[in-house]
Amino acid sequence: MKIAIIKERGEHEPRVAVSPESVKKLAGLGLGVVVESGAGSRARFSDSQFRDAGADVVADADAALAGADVLLSVQRPLRESVSRLPRGALLIGQLAPHGDRGDIDHYAECGVDAFAMELMPRISRAQSMDVLSSQSNLAGYKAVLDAAATFERAMPMMMTAAGTIAPARVMVLGAGVAGLQAIATARRLGAIVSATDVRPAAKEQVESLGATFVMVESEETAQAETAGGYAKEMSEDYKKQDIVICTALIPGRPAPLLVTRAMAESMRAGSIIVDLAVEQGGNCELSRAGEIVDHEGVRIVGHHNVPGRLPVDASALYARNLFNFIAPFVDAESGTVRMDWEDELVTGTALTRDGSVVHPLLVGSAD
Ligand code: NAD
Repeated sequence: MKIAIIKERGEHEPRVAVSPESVKKLAGLGLGVVVESGAGSRARFSDSQFRDAGADVVADADAALAGADVLLSVQRPLRESVSRLPRGALLIGQLAPHGDRGDIDHYAECGVDAFAMELMPRISRAQSMDVLSSQSNLAGYKAVLDAAATFERAMPMMMTAAGTIAPARVMVLGAGVAGLQAIATARRLGAIVSATDVRPAAKEQVESLGATFVMVESEETAQAETAGGYAKEMSEDYKKQDIVICTALIPGRPAPLLVTRAMAESMRAGSIIVDLAVEQGGNCELSRAGEIVDHEGVRIVGHHNVPGRLPVDASALYARNLFNFIAPFVDAESGTVRMDWEDELVTGTALTRDGSVVHPLLVGSAD
């Protein structure tokens, strides 16, 4: 059976869906792995590393896709790539199930069974396949490093002969996978960290990392909004922060707006806001995807694809997530992948099957 991997065509996507390690493991299960030349170059995986791991490296995407039984991707492939797959092929990747419906209908039209890794059920058996966790963890770490690199002051307290430098104050909004890693990273850099989340269970996790948990003050926010134009004084908490790391997301919905213009304006010049939610609409009113906005001296960092800013580790972990999903369905004797349609990991992630859109999220919503 032929597993194809091609270069990601997305503008902001340096990751790749396999690593030399995962190629070796796939080949070890009797699967043939075909990689488009250069597919791993931005993740620092060379053609020769893939070849040494057992892959067949071919000149272009067409050669990789011809006769492929499975296409592994990071993001949605181009429609023209999907069209080249034989009917009955599998497509496995981060397929943005809540995004544009047209591509998903196209998978069905092409007879391709497509699986969206973002929909992996969050049960303990599937933890090693959880791409949201593996990628968010890296994003949370990188967000703090991006903030520290942009910040014009030091993070830790420094006591020197010339005087003492106060530690930076970092607030993390959203204490999920990315937020908890951001807290741990900011603590390691010596900052004083606080964090907030709507889930009460987050309090204990935040505190175990040495940060202070701040309750979400929804009443205050509501009052501020009714005051007109966000003019009302905001919580003292924001004013004191040097760095705010925004990680709050609501699955399948736009990100919640947590840092209004007024809140950002209440921060001192030189403060930094990193908005990891910028591609889902943003937690900060002032963030713009792909930009560092300077608003009255407060800089709002809105990088695209933050896990992709660490493409080597992000690809390696993503490749393991994919391998862990596929491996249980490989019949080693025949070297074929056969999805078990009784398994909740399969039905939970399948967008299309046998020419139809099948996921409950999508059935009955043709537009
Ligand atoms: P996420 O990326 O969807 O959201 C990030 C965080 O933002 C969440 O903690 C969410 O509660 C928070 N948030 C949403 N609205 C908010 C608001 N208005 N203000 C402040 N915070 C807000 O979530 P995630 O990081 O993917 O995961 C969240 C939880 O799920 C974590 O506790 C994580 O440990 C758990 N989890 C469990 C498994 C498993 O296999 N059991 C796997 C991964 C994650």
